[in-house]
Amino acid sequence: SRQSYKWQRVLLKVSGEALAGDHKQNIDPKITMAIAREVASVTRLGIEVAIVVGGGNIFRGSSWAGSSGLDRSSADYIGMLATVMNAIFLQATMESIGIPTRVQTAFRMSEVAEPYIRRRAVRHLEKGRVVIFAAGTGNPFFTTDTAAALRCAEINAEVVLKATNVDGVYDDDPRRNPNARLLETLTYQEVTSKDLSVMDMTAVTLCQENNIPVVVFNLSKPGNISKAIKGERVGTLIGG
Ligand code: UDP
Repeated sequence: SRQSYKWQRVLLKVSGEALAGDHKQNIDPKITMAIAREVASVTRLGIEVAIVVGGGNIFRGSSWAGSSGLDRSSADYIGMLATVMNAIFLQATMESIGIPTRVQTAFRMSEVAEPYIRRRAVRHLEKGRVVIFAAGTGNPFFTTDTAAALRCAEINAEVVLKATNVDGVYDDDPRRNPNARLLETLTYQEVTSKDLSVMDMTAVTLCQENNIPVVVFNLSKPGNISKAIKGERVGTLIGG
């Protein structure tokens, strides 16, 4: 019989920055392959995996808005399109090693990917397919962290696993303060009141209101993605 793991269905959030690694282009194929391999290892165990991809490695709306006359909404739509590029890259990588994967976009791009249909996404997951949610929430002024929290709640996933380039949440900036400590657990309250830059406030409060725990962990350490998905201790756990 199937061994039981902590989570049955997870929402993995992969930021654009994490996909870029130190590659001089926008995406590091070594990283997408590492993600694909680790995701494959857990889907084989029967754990259902949905992924929300960011786009910050290609385009971040907020840092362009204002400059060169670009309004925020236009900039954000470009940002959402950037996430679609990452999603297709990741899908192609996963399918190259035999993982059935569907991309669903928050706004229609029917020639390229399925539109987001909640019940269909759930059905894909039940069949053991990986579902990649692209184009964020489909709305400007939001982030893909918020999209991760939203999709997690919608598909009844049990946790948001936020893959980043840092080991977790620290009590100070580890790049400036060598004595900064990694925090193993945090409450939502602590995240919002101490203004710890883990996720944006909208995403944190959405998780809090729906009792969705968040694990922040380093994707560049081999084995970490599968550990996080299997519910093993890694990074910082936010909840409570
Ligand atoms: N974005 C948006 N609405 C969303 C999600 C994303 O407008 O629901 C835009 C926004 O401009 C953002 C960009 O897409 O800067 C890329 O997403 P994000 O910055 O969240 O990516 P990450 O930081 O995870 O790489």
